[in-house]
Amino acid sequence: MLVVMKHGASQEHIDGVVRAIEEMGYAARPMPGTQRTTVGLVGNDGRVEEARLVGLEGVLRVIHVSQPYKQVSREWREGDTVIELPNGVRIGGPEVVVMAGPCAVESREQILTTARRVAAAGATVLRGGAFKPRTSPYSFQGLGEEGLRLLAEARDQTGMAVVTEALDPEGVALVAEYADIIQIGARSMQNYSLLRAAGRAGKPVLLKRGMSATIKELLLAAEYIVVEGEPRVILCERGVRNFDSHARNLLDLTAVVTVKELSHLPIIADPSHGTGARSKVGPMTRAAVAAGADGVIVEAHPDPASAVSDGAQSLTLDQFDVLMGELQTLAAALGRSVARARALASRS
Ligand code: PEP
Ligand code: MN
Repeated sequence: MLVVMKHGASQEHIDGVVRAIEEMGYAARPMPGTQRTTVGLVGNDGRVEEARLVGLEGVLRVIHVSQPYKQVSREWREGDTVIELPNGVRIGGPEVVVMAGPCAVESREQILTTARRVAAAGATVLRGGAFKPRTSPYSFQGLGEEGLRLLAEARDQTGMAVVTEALDPEGVALVAEYADIIQIGARSMQNYSLLRAAGRAGKPVLLKRGMSATIKELLLAAEYIVVEGEPRVILCERGVRNFDSHARNLLDLTAVVTVKELSHLPIIADPSHGTGARSKVGPMTRAAVAAGADGVIVEAHPDPASAVSDGAQSLTLDQFDVLMGELQTLAAALGRSVARARALASRS
């Protein structure tokens, strides 16, 4: 439920609404807007005495949020959520944010070489798994904490922010120590204890859509994170199961548009996992930006043929350079630009 305050309602009026909500046993979330403040009531179990709120001073009206996901819905918050990273990059605003890096952190040289090259080309967030969710238990599982340390070193050298995956609730704190964004993978989208732990870690969360998840399920998963107190959730369309074997997954770009209608959260696209094939990554990255994605996350590797995971869908660093040039042209044609980091750290 949302309590919309009148234009010009005083702080005292807003405090009065917050107090009334808390006295009824619910949590209140005041959200100042450009025109007026709205106070969200969290935890409505259907027994809220609406009349008590409607009658308070400064209240314009009370709105029932009709979606099952509340706080992530557009009804809850009209304006877009914009998430600022420590390097000054803003996700959810007019700029297109490019995240890039290998599927997995494999070695110091591999991650530093990749980071330097993708940063030079204009990427501002470095991706790379230290804990890998592999379909087979016999596949490479990641370098663990050593991988996180290498990502942090790459951040220091390039000024990029770091996004990397946490696989389980117990691992969230360690990932949060090193990462600027905690990634929740497609296979974990409905791991509710992991979502809750990520929501309490104090870092923005990149939530990937499960490979068979509906958009409603994606938004409800995001709600789990927000309910725990973390409003900085970035959604990611990474392809869904497909009856046709031409691509690993079906990159659902309609989801980008739909999420923008239903939610105020930013959404990016992952054309690497979304297609599974290098030749399809460039065109679908451009298509995602054209569809209005807030950013893209792209796998790139110094030598994809030797990559321990997802080599077939990883761009070479030269191919990534070309793609960045295309994205800059495309963004400009759309009246946008590719996000740049505020200040690059020293490259010593
Ligand atoms: C990844 O980003 O490396 C990854 C494992 O992606 P997903 O969870 O979308 O499969
Ligand atoms: Mn991968």
